[in-house]
Amino acid sequence: MTTSNVPLDDHIRPGSLDDFIGQDDVRANLRIYLQAARERGQQLDHVLLYGNPGLGKTTLAQIMASELGVNLVSTSGPVLERSGDLAAIVTNLKKNDLLFIDEIHRMPANVEEILYPGMEDFKLDLIIGQGPGARTVKIDLEPFTLVGATTRIGLLTSPLRDRFGVICRLEFYSPEELARIVTRAASIFGISITPDGALEIGRRSRGTPRIANRLLRRVRDFAHVKGCQVIDAQVAAQGLDMMDVDANGLDQMDRKILSCIISHFSGGPVGVKTIAVACSEEVRTIEEIYEPYLIQSGLLKRTPRGRVVTEKAYRHLGVPFGDREKR
Ligand code: ATP
Repeated sequence: MTTSNVPLDDHIRPGSLDDFIGQDDVRANLRIYLQAARERGQQLDHVLLYGNPGLGKTTLAQIMASELGVNLVSTSGPVLERSGDLAAIVTNLKKNDLLFIDEIHRMPANVEEILYPGMEDFKLDLIIGQGPGARTVKIDLEPFTLVGATTRIGLLTSPLRDRFGVICRLEFYSPEELARIVTRAASIFGISITPDGALEIGRRSRGTPRIANRLLRRVRDFAHVKGCQVIDAQVAAQGLDMMDVDANGLDQMDRKILSCIISHFSGGPVGVKTIAVACSEEVRTIEEIYEPYLIQSGLLKRTPRGRVVTEKAYRHLGVPFGDREKR
């Protein structure tokens, strides 16, 4: 097993669509659009990637740039405070470059508005100065591709959403796909892992490659300290149990959210703001990080009256569901 301290993430990010595991439909479609753009020598249509954190949006943007042989310029919605911030970036783009805007739903409205003509006609209408002396300057841009990434597609305005020619939704990964991601990462770093060891990590990774890679690192530490040369299912399970990651991949906070709804609010329905206060967590973190996986796993339901814990969650936590009405 290697003892290298080099951060895993820098080395294990897949560099091509062939190395990118899972998301088969997204990959198949992108492959066609990339080939067509490459062969025509034109810019790729604007692409919107949406899905939970850590599912591979940044990785896909990097792969697209590398497969097209163009530069990737990265920024994020909250960083673009003024229209001039965006103007400074887009006026420096070279022909067919990719501009990646992470968290695009957090871009201020005034910046978004100057992006529209940029996306449509590769022109920028900038207002210089203020008051009666203000004037509009039109700047021609090189054709470019905007790759927007968001965890909350519902927060995008429809004029912005409609300007993307390609919209890709990234799904949670299956345990088997995550096992392949873990096996690939392990082989890059010379970590010995058996197929069932990789699957154990895959099963507990909340459908998310970033978490799978993080758990692999922690299990590697566990195996190292325990003197295990190979990570098999037993070593992986022991290491993950010690980290309080349970057999379904839930961590302490997931269980706290479910237990809190059960003990304080009789299983719900209860609003997310109340849950956030009761669990001392931010609403956004609950909505973006925890809730999607709990819902996907069938442990939590979102109803018009609030969040409701399901019978499956009671069973998972070992709390009697009693004679409650089946949810
Ligand atoms: P965020 O929105 O939180 O920035 P993201 O969706 O952009 O997350 P990435 O940063 O692209 O996620 O991916 C997280 C990590 O998971 C990366 O280190 C990458 O190596 C790995 N990864 C993501 N998707 C895959 C995949 N399909 N195959 C292999 N590794 C992957």
